[in-house]
Amino acid sequence: MEQDILNLINGALVPAQGGGWLDNVEPATGATYSRIARSGPEDVEAAVSAARKAFPEWRAWSPADRRAVLMKLADKVAENAAMLAEAESKDNGKPVSVAAAVDIPRAEHNLRFYASAAEQFSSESHTMGDGTVNYTLRKPLGVVGCISPWNLPLYLFTWKIAPALASGNCVVAKPSEVTPMTAYLLGSWAKEAGLPDGVLNILHGLGPEVGQAMVEHHYVRAISFTGGTATGAAISALAAPKFKKLSLELGGKNATVVFDDCDFDEAVSTAVRAAFSNQGQICLCGSRILVQEGLYDRFRDAMVAKVSKLRIGDPMDPATKMGAVVSRGHRDKVLAAIDTARGEGGRILCGGGRHQPGEPRLKGGYFVQPTLIEGLDHRCVTNREEIFGPVATLQPFKDEQEALGLVNATKYGLSASVWTQDLKRAHRFAAGIDTGMVWLNCWLVRDLRTPFGGTRHSGVGREGGYNSMKFFTEPQNVCVKL
Ligand code: NDP
Repeated sequence: MEQDILNLINGALVPAQGGGWLDNVEPATGATYSRIARSGPEDVEAAVSAARKAFPEWRAWSPADRRAVLMKLADKVAENAAMLAEAESKDNGKPVSVAAAVDIPRAEHNLRFYASAAEQFSSESHTMGDGTVNYTLRKPLGVVGCISPWNLPLYLFTWKIAPALASGNCVVAKPSEVTPMTAYLLGSWAKEAGLPDGVLNILHGLGPEVGQAMVEHHYVRAISFTGGTATGAAISALAAPKFKKLSLELGGKNATVVFDDCDFDEAVSTAVRAAFSNQGQICLCGSRILVQEGLYDRFRDAMVAKVSKLRIGDPMDPATKMGAVVSRGHRDKVLAAIDTARGEGGRILCGGGRHQPGEPRLKGGYFVQPTLIEGLDHRCVTNREEIFGPVATLQPFKDEQEALGLVNATKYGLSASVWTQDLKRAHRFAAGIDTGMVWLNCWLVRDLRTPFGGTRHSGVGREGGYNSMKFFTEPQNVCVKL
């Protein structure tokens, strides 16, 4: 074993009190390479109690001091960027080039962005014209829980803990048990960065064991959760009767909509990127590609040609474009979804099964071919349910009205990407889409100040910029008669 992944509780790296461990598997090889503390309610109790003890001091720190500590934590990420990228790639199966270009720089950016937000966050005042003034305090909540998924491990972990800490809360955080390594490494630098003991606590283990105990804990005032829709529903059912604040960023079944006047080359290459980046395991991936009928055949053929050339293999090879999916269970789920598509009458245009790289080291790895499917309408399971893997469908549409109906034909409402050179149509169409985010002639371009989140089964609430700072604080209005 290379390394034990320990909990961070009250500034100390400790095993789970119950003494249990879970295997940590490298998806590219299928081999266990470290073990993870299997925490339970007793560890949640210890972490919450440390966080409660640390809260009065931490909330009294000046915004400038909180900013300085978060900046130091960001410096640690920057200094260790290459090592973190390798660790993320090994833990998750994603190409190291992607971890180095996207995941780790973004984790650093999240920390710096919210470090600055600590100093820039402000609240409102309302004057009534008769000498009465209202001002609104924004108070940190106390102990908050942050639960993040495996697809963008450090990226989404920092996206939650940074605003929670910047706004003066103490945090109990749980990364996915499938990809815990980089959160563990980050936690190991917390003390050196100057975070007082107990301000940031990180627990490892299974969602239904440790995650659920966090949600249920009386003193955890808010839960910021990113993950699957079914898990989000289970968390809501537990948290709602306890009146906890909830931010839920859930699944998606996003459409890429291509009108016949699009910039063809850019639309094709972005549609490929949107469908298959991170092995299709991004909540924002465009897994339903809708193409206007006059352009359909040409667009489909160009996509198939591009996808067939995607280099799939060893995540540690800098030339690799697609690595392994995250686990054996997830690979089987994705393969089952492809079988369902076949059963529904879908035509596999490319891919359609497991990929077996030549290197002996990768023999037990979880590789799936990038797969494009056509011939299925919007009512089938394949076009309704999230697959969260390297699988996308193509559907033709006649006109704007039909396209809009197809875009909105799922229970999800996370994002959409629309391709047209007609500006009037672009804005009209965007306004008609029932999702939290729309990209016009681009995909996954992110300004961290903008509201991030989805409608309907894609979640409740928005993250990003002041949205996150507001989520992690409670407004209190004070009315003064002067
Ligand atoms: P899960 O819902 O399985 O898990 C997410 C996190 O919740 C993990 O840390 C998990 O722990 C934990 N968890 C699981 N069960 C419980 C429970 N009962 N109580 C508390 N916590 C629990 O999602 P995945 O990790 O599989 O992530 C993939 C999903 O995330 C996809 O649906 C994807 O669309 C969505 N996602 C949404 C994003 C968005 O911003 N809208 C962004 C990225 C992903 P453990 O892993 O240890 O079980």
